[in-house]
Amino acid sequence: MKIQLTNTLTRRKEPFVPTDPKRVTMYVCGPTVYNVAHIGNARPPVVFDVLFRLLRHAYGEKAVLYARNYTDIDDKIITASIERGVPIAEITRAVEEQYESDMGALNVLTPTHRPRATENVPAMVAVIEKLIANGAAYAVPSGVYFSVAADEDYGKLSGRAQDDLKAGARVDGEDDKRASSDFALWKASKPGEPSWEAPFGAGRPGWHIECSAMIEEELGSPIDIHGGGIDLIFPHHENEIAQSESAHGHALARVWMHNGFLTMDKEKMSKSIGNIITPRELLEQGWQGETIRYALLSAHYKAPLDWNDELLEQAQKSLDRMYGAVLRLNDAPDVDAEPPAAFVAALADDLNTPAAIAELSALVTNANNAKKPAEQAQAKADLLAAGALVGLLQSDPEHWFRASFGEQAGEIDALVAARVAARAAKDYAESDRLRDALAERGVEVMDNASGSTWRRKG
Ligand SMILES: [Zn+2]
Repeated sequence: MKIQLTNTLTRRKEPFVPTDPKRVTMYVCGPTVYNVAHIGNARPPVVFDVLFRLLRHAYGEKAVLYARNYTDIDDKIITASIERGVPIAEITRAVEEQYESDMGALNVLTPTHRPRATENVPAMVAVIEKLIANGAAYAVPSGVYFSVAADEDYGKLSGRAQDDLKAGARVDGEDDKRASSDFALWKASKPGEPSWEAPFGAGRPGWHIECSAMIEEELGSPIDIHGGGIDLIFPHHENEIAQSESAHGHALARVWMHNGFLTMDKEKMSKSIGNIITPRELLEQGWQGETIRYALLSAHYKAPLDWNDELLEQAQKSLDRMYGAVLRLNDAPDVDAEPPAAFVAALADDLNTPAAIAELSALVTNANNAKKPAEQAQAKADLLAAGALVGLLQSDPEHWFRASFGEQAGEIDALVAARVAARAAKDYAESDRLRDALAERGVEVMDNASGSTWRRKG
């Protein structure tokens, strides 16, 4: 299979060729486990989950190694830990659990590795020691800094020239660094702060070095693909490259991929505007995880995505149509199928999820038009195989429609059961009355050989 991906580093869409097809490696910067993730934070894990699934399909499930970290060392986490007098882990583990549960609801597969920064500090110290020995970094009382001037390649990912960086603002407590663009690899600890021992003085790692070290530790470099949100290109990914390449003398990653911004009703999501919504809140409002996932995949990953209720309603409608087709073919026998070629080709073309969704929609039409039992079985299998490759249609269709009606589902079940009883008793007037009552609730009843099922009216 020919996969093409847009590489931020070369600014081109290029054929993807892994170094070793038996060991394909990818890394995506994970959450800072201080605050619960909002819907914008959920876009990278969902987008790169589709890539993970596609690579597994192309190279085999065991051949793809995917690491996504937890940033559990962070100034806010440390401040909270001191203020509340509790260990870091007490704050971060609860947020981690919430994150995993949200990702599970969004059908995000568990990555192969999920390293925590707190458990990889010795690896970070080792990279920093290498950089000091190389002359790429220097230790001063406030910490250890990477010397941007010592790295001729600096700026190659973001396209920023070194001259532009000189104007960078100084950060409090970093008065002794040599140049304003130099960034912290290690911050000397102040009294009362959690700290780790190191040959260059007790302290804690900077954010960028965490990823560089965890990539080396879990996957070894160069890795095939490094991903994240577009906001991470500078300075985070630029600095990851600078550190890793200066320490190891070779590329950190061959392909760099970045997903676009997510806005909320055309505005940047921010705490100060108060327009932040979390997957948890959406699930509590009754939206299903798959609906949220579908909405996140409805735009191309590189394009900006505007989040609003209409987007979710549209996603729900499309999924209802897909599940409706599966439900109608519930009695068709299960047969094995590979995802259809046109669908796979859409995904292989730089993860073109809007084109893949259009292919899914065509498969639904196909399923709805299938008449002969063998055609029906094949159409259902094609649709489900395609859905699985993007993490959609993972629910039982009856469960899907029940769940989308929330607490009303029990009431609807009772009306459907009463109608079955009326039909059995040949009370057609009552049966028709119940059908109308269900229609008023937006429910369509489908009678088939094994009884009656229902779904949301299309
Ligand atoms: Zn990172």
